[in-house]
Amino acid sequence: MAEKIEPRVLDVTVSEIVDFGNETRHFNLRFPPGVEMTFLPGQFVAVLCPQAGKVIRRAYSIASPPYDKTDLALVIKRVDGGAVTNWFWDLKVGDRFQVHGPYGKFILPQTVDFEPVFVATGTGIAPFRSMILSLLKNGHTGKISLVFGVRFENAIPYHAEFTELAARHPNLSYIPTLSRPTPSWKGETGYVQTKIAKLFADPAGRKIYICGLGEMIRAVCDAGAQCGYAKDQILFEKYD
Ligand SMILES: Cc1cc2nc3c(=O)[nH]c(=O)nc-3n(C[C@H](O)[C@H](O)[C@H](O)COP(=O)(O)OP(=O)(O)OC[C@H]3O[C@@H](n4cnc5c(N)ncnc54)[C@H](O)[C@@H]3O)c2cc1C
Repeated sequence: MAEKIEPRVLDVTVSEIVDFGNETRHFNLRFPPGVEMTFLPGQFVAVLCPQAGKVIRRAYSIASPPYDKTDLALVIKRVDGGAVTNWFWDLKVGDRFQVHGPYGKFILPQTVDFEPVFVATGTGIAPFRSMILSLLKNGHTGKISLVFGVRFENAIPYHAEFTELAARHPNLSYIPTLSRPTPSWKGETGYVQTKIAKLFADPAGRKIYICGLGEMIRAVCDAGAQCGYAKDQILFEKYD
């Protein structure tokens, strides 16, 4: 069992903002010099958002790996009328705020002696980016699969990074799947849940980790169950 890490409130400064398109952005946040956050890949922080004299909290999975000591990355999708995501859209490099964390139990065991099949849509990629970068950095040689569902080819968060990682690490299969492909797209198409029976039908030696919105999670859980995955072979983090 991993030891519980006590959550702390930490100051952060926005150091970089990357727009992925489709209302999704990467926010790189820097801790003050000498300050670090200890966390496990898959955990999240609460963003403390000052609004009208109050502080509102929202959970965001940490998209960066724990070995990146100076920074914390979040990937955020703007929600129509959303209080905190619209506040994020007004942030500029140099702006400061606070985060509280880490929290969460959506983590890998200390020994990963199975093939993790990571299934994400949209910003559900965040915990898996942290997990995959950490596994590879630690020299994990077992098979790792990532099924990543997005709408459009020109708005796939971290696409170049995962493509390059998969080219360098033959044990990593990166499977982006588009729900609105253009005719020139050569990869997988359709919803993530359809990839379970197609590519991961045999549950032996595998666990499915799912992150994103509830409707997708339910569909992937059903697809896994239909293939014979046991309850303890399917784990998820639900954003809504
Ligand atoms: C453990 C955890 C980790 C999370 N990690 C991330 C992450 O990495 N990136 C990320 O973008 N979000 C993440 N979320 C969701 C996040 O906490 C907020 O709920 C979301 O950003 C909306 O906040 P808001 O204040 O802008 O909207 P609110 O003001 O809370 O909501 C405005 C309206 O939008 C609806 N709504 C809320 N969230 C969504 C949504 N995601 N999609 C569509 N409609 C929605 C609400 O029902 C409401 O009607 C996570 C949630 C959890 C529980």
